[in-house]
Amino acid sequence: MKITRKDFLRLTGISILAAGAARAIHVATAAAQTNPRTILGGKRKKQFAMAIDLRKCRQRPGCDSCIRACNLAHNIPSMPDQGHEVKWIENEPFASVFPSGQNEYTRRNYGASPLPVLCNHCENPPCVRVCPTGATWKREEDGIVMMDWHRCIGCKYCMVACPYDARSFNFLDPRKYIEHLNPDFPTRTMGVVEKCDFCAERLAEGKLPACVEACPEKAMTFGDVFDPASPVSELLGAYYSIRRKPELGTQPNVFYIV
Ligand code: SF4
Repeated sequence: MKITRKDFLRLTGISILAAGAARAIHVATAAAQTNPRTILGGKRKKQFAMAIDLRKCRQRPGCDSCIRACNLAHNIPSMPDQGHEVKWIENEPFASVFPSGQNEYTRRNYGASPLPVLCNHCENPPCVRVCPTGATWKREEDGIVMMDWHRCIGCKYCMVACPYDARSFNFLDPRKYIEHLNPDFPTRTMGVVEKCDFCAERLAEGKLPACVEACPEKAMTFGDVFDPASPVSELLGAYYSIRRKPELGTQPNVFYIV
């Protein structure tokens, strides 16, 4: 195909415009990423977040106190097989939690050692964007990503959208598999999705999340990251922390101190 001088100039112009737009997006993104309030919540007044100090976690190999406390508090069923597993918090190996966070130091110190993973209560939660019924949403008052099981139609779009595998589907009737019923927390039904809610029900009573309270090493710190005086802000200000898959732009509110 013959390209005329006019075509050439038009194509060059489009390329320059595209490059300019890409540069503008890059600059805007870079600026946004250096502004703490943009990173964590825009105009919202409060954002609950969790800092997990892996240096403390590492002191107690095999510890699953946080998981047991969560399971008890939230009537998480013990499913007979892994394929039907329901989990709000679980232990996963460092290498799979931070596939791009590998370096000599982290490999040497954490290697395959498990660390707790849960819903990140992302600033830009893709799960919320795809839910067709509004069964999951980011709470205005404190940034918790909530679930309404009554509105969930079990389409699993949120599970596909979540890049952290933080959601579980009830393939079976979970009520049959609850070992110790907590009468103060609702049970769920077959066909709905569920996940960690940062213990919104406990926060409403002025308590800390069950996992935070149960940790024998006090490795988990919870609070409002918009409050510079909160323990979680102070901790994050004092130590280097990483978040899961930062390249996706979801901006997790669970931070790991390494
Ligand atoms: Fe949604 Fe997954 Fe982010 Fe939780 S971790 S807010 S489920 S995208």
